[in-house]
Amino acid sequence: MTPDKASEPERPTRRMCVHCKQTTDTPVLVHEGETVSGTTWNVYSCPDCAATRPLPVSEDGNARP
Ligand SMILES: [Zn+2]
Repeated sequence: MTPDKASEPERPTRRMCVHCKQTTDTPVLVHEGETVSGTTWNVYSCPDCAATRPLPVSEDGNARP
């Protein structure tokens, strides 16, 4: 008899908001980028910041400080 694998509930991964640096359970993807090495990376924001500042990066793709 094989024990049932602990089923993990569907829930979003916790992410840190790029704007306010607060960890949120409901991250909003605001930008997708790719490094020169081909690695993709995502920028997440909390819902509050995403509503007011939807695009945290400049046109050249660099995150603002
Ligand atoms: Zn935020």
